[in-house]
Amino acid sequence: MSGALKRILVTGGAGFLGSHLCERLVEQGHDVICLDNFFTSQKSNVAHLLDRPNFELVRHDITLPIFLEVDEIYNLACPAAPGHYQYNPIKTMKTSVMGAINVLGMAKRCRAKVLQASTSEVYGDPEVHPQPEHYRGAVNPIGPRACYDEGKRAAETLFMDYHRMNGVNVRIVRIFNTYGPRMHPFDGRVISNFIRQALAGEPLTIFGDGSQTRSFCYRDDLIEGMIRMMGADDDFVGPVNLGNPTEFTIRELAECILELTGSRSRLVFQPLPADDPRQRRPDITLARQRLGWEPRVPLREGLIKTIEWFRSIDIRHYRPPTPNY
Ligand code: NAD
Ligand code: UDP
Repeated sequence: MSGALKRILVTGGAGFLGSHLCERLVEQGHDVICLDNFFTSQKSNVAHLLDRPNFELVRHDITLPIFLEVDEIYNLACPAAPGHYQYNPIKTMKTSVMGAINVLGMAKRCRAKVLQASTSEVYGDPEVHPQPEHYRGAVNPIGPRACYDEGKRAAETLFMDYHRMNGVNVRIVRIFNTYGPRMHPFDGRVISNFIRQALAGEPLTIFGDGSQTRSFCYRDDLIEGMIRMMGADDDFVGPVNLGNPTEFTIRELAECILELTGSRSRLVFQPLPADDPRQRRPDITLARQRLGWEPRVPLREGLIKTIEWFRSIDIRHYRPPTPNY
């Protein structure tokens, strides 16, 4: 076996991002263990990898310890969409915190490198725009998004403390809104909602007046950034922002999806959820400098691929895990 080939654990590996990451790592020849409890995903996301000799699927809940021998760990296990993570907020916090402790313990025992999939939500509803990594954020610790935001912040703390105290080789990436094929059609995120609604001829639900902004990164760009961060110099632990710095209002996004789907759906306006960030755009200077990384896929191009995928699936095979879609 070439020295570059590794045993790699991907927690949350059956999810939207995790399944693509597994696919990339399997293609590179690594020995990949995909761990998932299928809370927000389904086996079909990785079914095409099951007969590969260098891929293994383990059903496990990361809040419980597990003993595996690995060289690298990507820790993605956590519900990511607001409707999913608010379904059982206590479990969401447990997954972030106990999941982090379990993967960090494994990394310490195996001397493995471990990467945390953190989030732009650590910046909360930001007063600084765009958001650089040194901005400390404005998170409401007692609101409905806190289970996710504070859980991810606590996980970053654990990663840094295991690094400082035990010398664990850690990496932290802060992921901004990412989309693409294999998003759960009922996850309640804006891109999946709008595409599903547009294709069904249902009204597109804009929360608030649609003037709030987000910056959307295509999944292939994001996965490339994650892999580069895992391979970065050992003195670069992050956190580093990964996202697309081109910013759109939610209303612009709705209009673009109507145009690309050819849908005649109407726009309807519904109340803005509590603590919904007004604006979000990553400052990716650090990723450019240290990883030589920047997104390549413009929104329209990524949306066309995503719409194509939504058209190809049989939506009856996707169970809404929560009523919040
Ligand atoms: P996803 O919901 O598709 O994937 C998460 C996966 O984790 C799912 O397969 C789910 O079943 C699994 N999971 C949840 N709880 C678990 C547990 N207790 N034990 C084992 N597995 C568990 O979401 P995604 O968009 O692929 O997100 C992946 C990671 O990236 C998450 O950690 C998320 O917080 C982070 N992230 C994603 C985005 C984005 O825009 N997609 C943005 C910021 C951060
Ligand atoms: N949103 C919307 N309609 C929807 C779903 C979401 O207008 O059907 C808005 C939501 O209020 C937020 C933005 O779109 O302002 C992005 O929401 P998403 O849940 O995708 O991600 P997050 O808020 O975590 O960035």
